[in-house]
Amino acid sequence: MLRSILLYLSVAGWAQRIATRNWLARRVARRFVAGETLEESVAVAKALNQDGFRVTFTYLGEAVYREEETRQVVAEYQRVNEVIARENLNAEISLKVTQLGLEIDEEICHNNLRDILNHARERAGTRVVLDMESSPYLEATLRLYRGLREEFGAQVGVAIQAYLFRSAEDLTQLAAPDAVIRIVKGAYLESPAIAFDDKAKVDENYVRLVEQFLSDDGAFLDIATHDEKMITAAQRFIAANEIPPDRYEFQMLYGIRNELQRELVADEPTCVLISFGEEWYPYFVRRLAERPANLVFFLRGLFGR
Ligand SMILES: Cc1cc2nc3c(=O)[nH]c(=O)nc-3n(C[C@H](O)[C@H](O)[C@H](O)COP(=O)(O)OP(=O)(O)OC[C@H]3O[C@@H](n4cnc5c(N)ncnc54)[C@H](O)[C@@H]3O)c2cc1C
Repeated sequence: MLRSILLYLSVAGWAQRIATRNWLARRVARRFVAGETLEESVAVAKALNQDGFRVTFTYLGEAVYREEETRQVVAEYQRVNEVIARENLNAEISLKVTQLGLEIDEEICHNNLRDILNHARERAGTRVVLDMESSPYLEATLRLYRGLREEFGAQVGVAIQAYLFRSAEDLTQLAAPDAVIRIVKGAYLESPAIAFDDKAKVDENYVRLVEQFLSDDGAFLDIATHDEKMITAAQRFIAANEIPPDRYEFQMLYGIRNELQRELVADEPTCVLISFGEEWYPYFVRRLAERPANLVFFLRGLFGR
């Protein structure tokens, strides 16, 4: 119930306007957001790299409806490419296709993604992973991924959500020696007609998808979760099947389960997703929805207790 309310608030313009005008809310959101500017997030990335983590950069923002705005997003990701190459960061990019024009026109979006990937290829060869957003965008996101993979191979990846019934079939379709997949539980409000609404079933499917991908000859798997049960199950499968560490990594979000992140990086390839930008509100509220206890932390921050 609370999750549904928070996921509704994450897309409610009126709530975004109230929250983003409040400097205290902005300050509290900093727990999950590495900075409002790229420069702030680069300082965080350097510190994480020094501690042994890889990082993945996300420029915050959701659907964009004007082509010139998508060009500004392309330019920001090109700045990310530049900084990764210049600072020799161990980093990749994670982005939302709606922020690059999917709602305007799929071809515009495809061309924007090509511009980012080509620019990256000419510099550090940075990998770009397409986030999976809510289900209306799923088919188009997979089409974009398939199209880009023809040109960029394992330089491009895509996220698959364990809460969707169809994901095992999607993964079968995507299996290929250059496939780069990130498996997540799923962060959006979906209908029970298409998604498991029972956490135990989502978890079960998550483990099944990880094992399915690692059993195929896919290039690389991002095991993106903060759930120890998922991590342990994956580690068990990896050990039993002698999967080499260049075929997978664990991924977590900046600011979530820092202690677990530090424990994991001591033994496993581990990557932290760091997000930056002024459009932090929907991202932040989705993090609140994942763990209602965060709401208490947020309200305490707001009321100074
Ligand atoms: C690198 C990365 C990329 C992602 N990309 C996508 C994507 O493309 N599309 C998509 O739909 N979703 C994405 N997600 C979000 C994902 O779908 C889940 O919503 C999120 O990871 C929470 O699920 P969990 O696997 O951590 O398990 P959960 O069962 O939700 O959480 C396990 C435990 O982790 C802790 N935890 C989890 N979330 C939080 C939080 N917000 N605050 C504090 N503690 C927390 C809690 O202790 C909880 O008990 C991504 C997640 C990661 C880590």
